Amino acid sequence: MASAPLPQPVPLPALHASHSGCWLADPSGNVRALSRGEAIMAAAETPLLMLNAPLVASRLGYPELSGLDLLELYAFVHPASFVVPTPKGLAQALNLPVPEHEGEVPMLLARAAARLFERCEADDWTQREGAWSVLQSLARQKWPWSGLLAPHVRKPERAERWLFARLPEWEELPPRPQPKHVPLAPEDVAARLDTLTGEGSEKREGQRDYAQEAAHVFAPRPEKGRPNMVLAQAGTGVGKTLGYLAPASLWSQAAEGTVWVSTYTKALQRQLRRESRRAWPEADGSDRQTPAVVVRKGRENYLCLLNLEDALQGGFQNRAGIFAQLVARWAAYSEDGDMVGGDLPGWLPTLFRRRGLAALTDRRGECVYAACPHYKKCFIERAARQSAHADLVIANHALVMVHAARGGERDGQQRPSRIVFDEGHHLFDAADSTFAVALSGSEAIEMRRWVIGPEGKSKGRRRGLAARLADVASYDEGGEEAIAAAREAASGLPADGWLARINEGEPWGPLEQLFAAVRRVTYARDEAGSEAGYGLETEAVELDGPFIEAASEARDALAALRQPLMKLGSRLEAILEDPPDWLDPQGRQRVEGARHSLSWRIDALTAWEALLARLGGPADPDFVDWLSVERAEAREFDIAIHRRWLDPMRPFAATVLEPAHGVLQTSATLCDRSPEGPDWDRAVARSGASVIGLNPRISEAASPFDYATQAQVIIVTDVKKGDIAGLAAAYGQLIEASEGGVLGLFTAIRRLRAVHARIADRLARSGLPLFAQHVDPIDTGTLVDIFRDDPRASLLGTDALRDGVDVPGDSLRLVVMEQVPWPKPSILHRARRAAAGGERADRQAHDDAIVRARLSQAFGRLIRSRGDSGAFVVLSSAFPSRLLSAFPTGTPVTRTTLADALQMLQRGVSCSEPQDKQNVRESDV
Ligand code: SF4
Repeated sequence: MASAPLPQPVPLPALHASHSGCWLADPSGNVRALSRGEAIMAAAETPLLMLNAPLVASRLGYPELSGLDLLELYAFVHPASFVVPTPKGLAQALNLPVPEHEGEVPMLLARAAARLFERCEADDWTQREGAWSVLQSLARQKWPWSGLLAPHVRKPERAERWLFARLPEWEELPPRPQPKHVPLAPEDVAARLDTLTGEGSEKREGQRDYAQEAAHVFAPRPEKGRPNMVLAQAGTGVGKTLGYLAPASLWSQAAEGTVWVSTYTKALQRQLRRESRRAWPEADGSDRQTPAVVVRKGRENYLCLLNLEDALQGGFQNRAGIFAQLVARWAAYSEDGDMVGGDLPGWLPTLFRRRGLAALTDRRGECVYAACPHYKKCFIERAARQSAHADLVIANHALVMVHAARGGERDGQQRPSRIVFDEGHHLFDAADSTFAVALSGSEAIEMRRWVIGPEGKSKGRRRGLAARLADVASYDEGGEEAIAAAREAASGLPADGWLARINEGEPWGPLEQLFAAVRRVTYARDEAGSEAGYGLETEAVELDGPFIEAASEARDALAALRQPLMKLGSRLEAILEDPPDWLDPQGRQRVEGARHSLSWRIDALTAWEALLARLGGPADPDFVDWLSVERAEAREFDIAIHRRWLDPMRPFAATVLEPAHGVLQTSATLCDRSPEGPDWDRAVARSGASVIGLNPRISEAASPFDYATQAQVIIVTDVKKGDIAGLAAAYGQLIEASEGGVLGLFTAIRRLRAVHARIADRLARSGLPLFAQHVDPIDTGTLVDIFRDDPRASLLGTDALRDGVDVPGDSLRLVVMEQVPWPKPSILHRARRAAAGGERADRQAHDDAIVRARLSQAFGRLIRSRGDSGAFVVLSSAFPSRLLSAFPTGTPVTRTTLADALQMLQRGVSCSEPQDKQNVRESDV
């Protein structure tokens, strides 16, 4: 960007607070350092400019802090635009000098405000439309910026169209015909790959072979129920994304069919969206009415316009009301209305402590479909229609499974038939959650609300079944009776205050009685956990008479609700088959929508009844059942009965694989590497292929990286397990030795917090900022953005960071694991471990494979490109050698003390250098 003249700072006081100190600028620009106490007093006296008020509040230890937050101003002026929410990120986004030290940050904030005001006055402000109207509403909500901003946002000459009039409508298109059956010639696949990788790019043999393997998925299916299936492992750096996009794009364009690419993490979805532009350029000259590439997520991710309208018209007040207005600004410029991982900045909801986010999406299945005034503009409906006509749908594993189960039910959508599961090593876990059944208090209360609607003091537009289907009820007597009976039966489900009543020994109704029994049994059998304040669980076996009786009564209550819902479903079917005169096309869509959401509720009730019916009977070897009390920091928040498939790939195979024509499962870590070599039998078993008698094609492409020189593994043997002070000191020293750039992975939030609390201030004073999941009031995606943007920053986190971090380059130089990531000894884990075999060695092998997978995923964060280098440290005095095969072949491994490890890191030891004699060097693995 060309450098623009520096704006004069706005004459307002500005505050910056970090772990290393606080700085305040007065309106004349004089900056001084001050204590936390003085900073709190200053902020209480007058509204101060600040960046990310919740983070400043957390640094000051003063949660009630508020002020003139630059991020809120940025969200107003540049809706749907990305900025890293740090001083450096803000400076770069606004073309201002990046502060060289923290004392310069307050003046940056004053200049950033001036720059944003300037933008509002500029004639070429592309996001001007709607700004004036939203600002008037924000003034009524007493947004602190509104008075300061008003002189800079001119009133439009003509009244602005409101958001709901400006959004484009989607078009109804005829269903897409079945794809043609086209063979892909190997030379065409190779040529397409060359086109995608670009002229003059380095030809990678591994990638070319991988693309040919992936192409097998798109061959015509030989037999019904037997899809073409390929399991392809491709080490980091092979370029598997373009490797499968080459045959996928070739096939979808020739066959006029849709390929689904499914991922586990949002980071990979973003990467896919970028890379798919090579195969489907945005302006491709075609006359398509819908985009070729569509990102599809679960409906709970998207903004529901009806909920937003409700929020804007008084449903949200105070801070939540301001959030709703800023969301309205964003919605007008958003590409697809995705609020979670889309173009709504991840930091925006956290500025409002995430209040209101859930209520703006459709999480409770209350969509009224064609009865909604915004139906034709609805982001969710648009994405659904677009995906039916897309060449490429980018989705996640859970959505693909749900869509495969319900596919073809609505809007001419077809089941996914050609599917690439990237990050395929997560399919087992994704299937495990998708096909799980849990009857919990919170689920049961949602069911009650869905049927009855708001009760007591609840406000808003949420409506029960009777209100949603009022016209059906007035037309059809049978339907009216069914709705009344369902309402009556739903009043037996848990209601607000259920947990308190159970705690006080006064449960109300059969379901609350059952949850009281679950709680009693779970606490009675607990041997260790109740003192620790975390969740408790116990196997659902040997249940006593009163428990079985409560389960039986609860089951009757659920059946009493399911029956009228089924009757209502058949009345809706009858109306659709023999439509009355008043049923126009929109009404028809609404009745269809109601029928489908009804069938999902009936499915849930049936599964709950089946779960209860089995309690007290003989154990079913296919399932694992248990009871739980969910707690966090000694506070109970739910009670549940769970059922999981012992092998969740069985329902996966029946639902997803069997109906498909071609499935590719791929990952850098698809196959366990035991010390004896790659264990493809286990990978095949975990793919679901053997459930339907398939023998998948297997391929392996090794990483082109030179791990012997780019990476090293150091196992630190002298940090004692359970010694939090020692653990914190080790982390602090490792971060100092590496001068930041550390990703610290923990298996327990408690230890993460304890370590962060001990070292964050000291590191910050050395110019090494430390951020942490579960500590900083920032969403995980934004934390990774901040980490990526600052090579001196370090980040602590738990499981989500083990896979979701893609940080090529210098920002990530060291990964530290606090201990060997053994699986949690839960009831489910114990059952699967026992199913692995009767011998101790079998059970051990089961656990080892899980740990090796975790280690290789974590190690995989380190080296993302040929230019990367770094170290992987595990703090473990007893790291079994059999786990070392988790690391790529050739990676040098050293077992040593912390002191030596620090020296190695400070010297930037390359593995080709002679090892210190006292280090016990494992053989290259
Ligand atoms: S159609 Fe449904 S999800 Fe879409 S805006 Fe209307 S109520 Fe919300």
